[in-house]
Amino acid sequence: MALTREQIVKDIQAFIAEDRVITEEEVLKENSVDRFRKYETIHGIYTQPLPAAVVKVKDEQEVSDLLRYMNDNGINAVPRTGGSATEGGLETAVENSIVIDGSGMDEIVSIDPYDMLATVKCGVPLEVLEDKLREQGLTTGHSPQSKPLAQMGGLVATRSIGQLSTLYGGIEDMVIGLEAVFPNGEVTKIRNIPRRAAGPDIRHVIIGNEGALCYITEVTVKVFKYQPDNNRYFGYLLDDMKKGFEILREVMVQGYRPSVARLYDPEDGADHFDFSKGKCVLIFMVEGPKALAEVTGAAIEEIVSEHGPAEQVESRLIQNWFENLNWDPAKVLEERKEIKETNNIGFTTEVSGTWGVIHDIYERCIKRVREEIPHITMLGGHSSHSYMNGTNMYFVYYYDLVDIKPEEEITKYHYPINKIIVEETIKAGGSMVHHHGVGKHRTPWIKEEYGSSYYILETLKQAFDPKGIMNKGTIFPKEDK
Ligand SMILES: Cc1cc2nc3c(=O)[nH]c(=O)nc-3n(C[C@H](O)[C@H](O)[C@H](O)COP(=O)(O)OP(=O)(O)OC[C@H]3O[C@@H](n4cnc5c(N)ncnc54)[C@H](O)[C@@H]3O)c2cc1C
Repeated sequence: MALTREQIVKDIQAFIAEDRVITEEEVLKENSVDRFRKYETIHGIYTQPLPAAVVKVKDEQEVSDLLRYMNDNGINAVPRTGGSATEGGLETAVENSIVIDGSGMDEIVSIDPYDMLATVKCGVPLEVLEDKLREQGLTTGHSPQSKPLAQMGGLVATRSIGQLSTLYGGIEDMVIGLEAVFPNGEVTKIRNIPRRAAGPDIRHVIIGNEGALCYITEVTVKVFKYQPDNNRYFGYLLDDMKKGFEILREVMVQGYRPSVARLYDPEDGADHFDFSKGKCVLIFMVEGPKALAEVTGAAIEEIVSEHGPAEQVESRLIQNWFENLNWDPAKVLEERKEIKETNNIGFTTEVSGTWGVIHDIYERCIKRVREEIPHITMLGGHSSHSYMNGTNMYFVYYYDLVDIKPEEEITKYHYPINKIIVEETIKAGGSMVHHHGVGKHRTPWIKEEYGSSYYILETLKQAFDPKGIMNKGTIFPKEDK
């Protein structure tokens, strides 16, 4: 028979200090959701089953003891660190879940400027690590817009990516070693090695698991030299997205690696830049050793000029935009206030595709959302992470909420928009999720996303979480284990 919430709390308090097993209703409410449900929560409505407790763990041994107890008793675990998730990964989808909050595990274990490694516990905020590294002339190279909000465990668990990804890569390119705890209590450590060929790369079982396979307790990332004096910014106004994608592709396939390479469509451009004049905005930033930055900058200018007329934007405007891009807690509060006042809300859906399909994905999604969804007040998007073989598309959309109850926002607007973007992307051969994770709300398409390789993904779940206690409904649809 399932344990009562009171019994679960009492049992956990027997091995974890009482003041770190939190049962206050307000805390439970806040920990039952993430930003996917921001409209409901702004109105004080919480539709997910409240967890039995939020447990603030202090080390890997506690995580191990807790997970073993939960596994033995069939209790759902929702791992959490920075709480900036956007796709429902933090929703407590079943009764009497326990939220395992690792934000107190915030020790920077070591910074090694010779082997160029930094080891941190899962609750270290990225911004804290980055500031510490910069004091020593180093950087993580990781700069997601959520840098002031997110913590290292969550960043690794979601396969996050930063604005400088074209040079430094996504988090998967940065992680060297890891420690993670599995539901049976097994604490596993993957050593810090520059590369090895001793079988498959098991780091990738952990990176991107979204708390659905294991709990990440420690991360080692590579670090880079921080050389901001060499940064250069470039901006151009273009007439159409097709030309922008062609320029991005050319820069990539010729082998240049700017840190930032971005292309905004006119609507999204107008939202970000007061100089956009209703055109597409193409942006590059180059950095690194001076000579490399200069060569990369010169090559970008040449490639752009070969693609016909493009109005150049003053570089200080691009620099100024870049330096004010990130979201901190104050901006989150400001957004909530604005939504409440205006009843207008914005979300994003990010996908990816090869160069051959990305423009079609962009056009089809925009056309269908415009035709099929009511009350849209802004619809646009940008490409922000490019690769040799393709790029991503980050769709941005705002709508007025007309004649609905707060809890209907998701079904009337957000789901139908997500559905169009995901369907069109998968149909064209792209991926339905570029960097926010699957969370709980893109699971209906997970089998289509993977095709025959879903066998591999599903087998990981069966092997590592046979009782299905890890973050039920995340990555894997709720009815499956
Ligand atoms: C304003 C804003 C801007 C954003 N910009 C970006 C961006 O530029 N790039 C980007 O990639 N993302 C971005 N995001 C999304 C989000 O910040 C990232 O997904 C981030 O990686 C989440 O980190 P977190 O510490 O907040 O994790 P949480 O929100 O706490 O958790 C995220 C997911 O990881 C799981 N998880 C958390 N901790 C652990 C752990 N220790 N072990 C196992 N699983 C765990 C959770 O269960 C959940 O599924 C943005 C979000 C916001 C709100």
